[in-house]
Amino acid sequence: MHLIDTHCHLDEEAFTTDMPDVIERAVAGDVGTLFTIGITAASCERAVEIAAEYEFVKAIVGVQPNYVSQLQDGDWEKIVALMQHPEVVGIGETGLDKYWDYAPLDLQREYFDRHLVLSRELDLPFVVHCREAEQEIVEQLRAFAGADQLRGVMHSFCGNEETLQACLDLGMHMSFSGMLTYKKNDDLRFVAKQVPLDRLLIETDAPYLAPVPNRGKRNEPAFVRHTCAVLAEIHNMTTEEMAEITTRNARELFRLEV
Ligand SMILES: [Zn+2]
Repeated sequence: MHLIDTHCHLDEEAFTTDMPDVIERAVAGDVGTLFTIGITAASCERAVEIAAEYEFVKAIVGVQPNYVSQLQDGDWEKIVALMQHPEVVGIGETGLDKYWDYAPLDLQREYFDRHLVLSRELDLPFVVHCREAEQEIVEQLRAFAGADQLRGVMHSFCGNEETLQACLDLGMHMSFSGMLTYKKNDDLRFVAKQVPLDRLLIETDAPYLAPVPNRGKRNEPAFVRHTCAVLAEIHNMTTEEMAEITTRNARELFRLEV
C-alpha cells in the first residue's frame, strides 16, 4: 500500500524534537509520500529544506490567510521565488478564514487572488484553506475560473453538500482529514460519499486534529491511514483500494514522478 498525506506541517514546533522519527513512522506505516505545507516565509523556507532532505517529502508553499497581515518587506517575494523550487509541487495554503480575526478579509482576498494567479502562471495546483468562509471562497473561485476548470484542492474539507457541488463544478479536488473519523461527523461522511472517486484526496493536517483512534493526541502523517480506512468504508471498498485511488489522484493532480 502507498498512501499520500497531501497536507501536513512538518516544520511546526510540535515536531522539532523528533521529526526524523515521525517521518520514519510514516514510511513504516505505508505513507510513501508526504507534502509539507509552509504558512509564512520562514516556514516555507523550512518546508523546502525538509523536502530537499527527504526524497519522498515534497513542499507546498504560500502564505496562510491568517498570516497575510504579518508579512514583512520581502517575505512575499521570497515565497514566490520558493514556488519555483524543484521540490515544490503546489501553492498554498491560501484562502479565507473568518473564524480567526488575524487579518482583514480584504487583505486575505487579495492574497488568495495572488496565489490563484501564480498557480496559473507557474502551472502548479493550489491548496485552499477555508474556515467559516464557504460562500466567499466559492464566489472568489468562480470569479477567477470564469469558464475554465480549476486545478486545486479544498483542504480538510468540512463544508455542506451545496459547497461540495459548487467546488466539484469548478473542477476542484476534495481532501479529507481526521475530522472524517469523528463520531459526531455523520454529515461530513454523508458529503464525502458524494464525491466522485477521481476527486478524492486524503491528508492529516498534522500536528492538528488527529483521527480516531488517536484523537486528542498530536497528529502525525502515519495516522492518515485511519482517514483512508473511513473513506474506504463510506465508499464500500477496502482500505487498499481507497489508498490506490487517492494516491493516483494525488500523483495526477500534483504531477508527481514517484
Ligand atoms: Zn494546514
